[in-house]
Amino acid sequence: MKFEYVIVGAGLAGLTMAERIANELNKAVLIIEKRNHIGGNVFDSYNNDGILIHNYGPHIFHTNDKEVYHYLSKFTKWNDFWHRVLTYVDGNLIPMPITVETVNKLYNLDLSSYEIEEFLENRAIDIDEVKTSRDVALSKVGHDLYEKIFKNYTIKQWGVDPMELDTSVISRIPIRANRDTRYFNDKYQGMPTHGYTKMCENMANNKNIKIMLNTDYKEVIEHISYKKLIYTGPADYFYDYKHGKLAYRSIEFVNETHNNESYQEAPVVNYPNDYDYTRITEFKKLTWQEHNKTTICKEFPCDKGEPYYPFPTKEYKEQFALYQNEIEQEKDVLFIGRLAEYRYYNMDGVIRRALDMFNAEINK
Ligand SMILES: Cc1cc2nc3c(=O)[nH]c(=O)nc-3n(C[C@H](O)[C@H](O)[C@H](O)COP(=O)(O)OP(=O)(O)OC[C@H]3O[C@@H](n4cnc5c(N)ncnc54)[C@H](O)[C@@H]3O)c2cc1C
Repeated sequence: MKFEYVIVGAGLAGLTMAERIANELNKAVLIIEKRNHIGGNVFDSYNNDGILIHNYGPHIFHTNDKEVYHYLSKFTKWNDFWHRVLTYVDGNLIPMPITVETVNKLYNLDLSSYEIEEFLENRAIDIDEVKTSRDVALSKVGHDLYEKIFKNYTIKQWGVDPMELDTSVISRIPIRANRDTRYFNDKYQGMPTHGYTKMCENMANNKNIKIMLNTDYKEVIEHISYKKLIYTGPADYFYDYKHGKLAYRSIEFVNETHNNESYQEAPVVNYPNDYDYTRITEFKKLTWQEHNKTTICKEFPCDKGEPYYPFPTKEYKEQFALYQNEIEQEKDVLFIGRLAEYRYYNMDGVIRRALDMFNAEINK
């Protein structure tokens, strides 16, 4: 078989590259995907009760990147979903991120926005050099809120103390001295009206794009000739683990369908200190599907399983740097995406990266 471009992986990185090559350059492209579906981790499907679920965990689209939003809007319409999260602490459901209402409810106070700033400033700990996720939280909110909200959630999520994780983990959680309880304040948010899989099918809907499912690229790549390989699989696998296996954190998703229209007050409820799961998502509250039953998803983080989150520690970053050196020597292979770059990307981030890479490396 002969293709100018071969892409490994039909996630958002691979599909965006394929769509650009097929539409913009009018060139043939083959996507090889080891799973039995496209979409990568954004794949969603209807369960036996007819409820739309996210098979690899809840995915909420949000971005400030206008170009990315308009790019994806060619393939889907959006509902006007705004994400909200509650956290179960000391028997109360409090809004996340930390807002005026969070502090007032947790400490039974009635502070104003101005007073909240003072409240947090008085508790924040002065740390000379903020190096870890624990330092970030302590320097923003002090000991008590750190212990109640961040510490145990992070330990459940990563299996290690926040002291061992770099600043990227906790600094992603915004703290607001106002009453805005939306989880994200990005300009564009929403859920694809007909789901992510439909959006991905629309991206791949081009006669120039051929997709081979259920196939690990190593089984077939020797029989295919190409000019450029675009690789979105794991970097260590590409190099047969010559510098060792990179570590990922995984999650076991346990879905339950309940015979009620509604299960919880918010789309997501976090459980930092109780139970073994980190959070419960109720899918209908994301997708706005109407149904007399409801499906929820409990997340149990674990070490084994699908590689979801690159491990944010110095040790693994250094290990990946060895692969990065090899990657930089490659002439005919482009590495892109969450697995190939050993880097957590949100959906908008990976699409931005693919659009930029297409312009810089392919559409020259
Ligand atoms: C639990 C979870 C929740 C998330 N929630 C959000 C969210 O709310 N909002 C948000 O913006 N982002 C979220 N994300 C991030 C989002 O999933 C990623 O940004 C996006 O999926 C990255 O796309 P990708 O193409 O890089 O990787 P992937 O989606 O992982 O695609 C890579 C593809 O390559 C295939 N592949 C791997 N190895 C091979 C091989 N050897 N041969 C053939 N195929 C191979 C895989 O099967 C996979 O389909 C979440 C991620 C996770 C894990």
